[in-house]
Amino acid sequence: MSTIALVTGGNRGIGLATALRLRESGYQVVVGSRSGEAPDGLDTVRLDVSSPESINAAFDDIESRFGTVGLLVANAGITRDGLLMRMSDEDIDDVLQTNLAGSIRLARRALKGMIRARAGRIIFVGSVVGLLGSGGQVNYAAAKAGLVGAARSLAREVGSRGITVNVIAPGFVETDMTAELDDAVRAGILGGIPLGRYAQPAEIADTVDFLASASYITGAVIPVDGGLGMGH
Ligand code: NDP
Repeated sequence: MSTIALVTGGNRGIGLATALRLRESGYQVVVGSRSGEAPDGLDTVRLDVSSPESINAAFDDIESRFGTVGLLVANAGITRDGLLMRMSDEDIDDVLQTNLAGSIRLARRALKGMIRARAGRIIFVGSVVGLLGSGGQVNYAAAKAGLVGAARSLAREVGSRGITVNVIAPGFVETDMTAELDDAVRAGILGGIPLGRYAQPAEIADTVDFLASASYITGAVIPVDGGLGMGH
């Protein structure tokens, strides 16, 4: 029987590439999407990660239709960029709620089945900026840095149950999220990437697939950033 993988925000960008990659590798993939829809014939569940009720309902739905989630990829995320002096309470709260609290709540709900199964993989999609910092992204970088502390703490809590918890820290990936940045910002970032190019979503997906099959890696932060953040 194939492992059930839940990929949040799997309807586009890095999440969609990950869902397709995991399907290729033989997982039974369920995409969590706010609209309840996803392309390419993927199985989906309606899921808004900023809502605790929605998280519980989505897992109940997956468990009744497919079974226990064995691999959680907490990928859904948002940015609300701006200098902190001008950042609204809403922009702080929304980013922390979606990117950090949402991922922690997803992991908590996924653990129910994983503890019983004495096996599981939890992968948080963080960001290079969590450790590097990024002007204009205090809210986002704080949320992504928080995922590292959450993953490492949870890795210690559940390691003895055969469950691993890791963070992937992408650099600059060509998706809708980065398409909205202006050319000067994009050029500035490119100048700091030793590999001299941005990542494609499939390159993050490959790393998720690798971590999902790795039995002796936990509490790790795996950079997939072309060298942008090396040294931190
Ligand atoms: P996109 O903006 O292309 O896609 C974001 C995805 O997250 C969409 O599927 C979106 O759903 C979903 N989403 C957002 N909010 C919620 C929510 N409340 N509930 C459920 N789903 C939600 O982003 P990327 O693919 O670029 O990013 C994916 C992850 O990778 C994010 O966590 C991001 O922070 C991280 N990342 C991205 C980098 C990049 O350069 N692109 C770099 C480093 C990290 P919907 O379609 O409904 O909006």
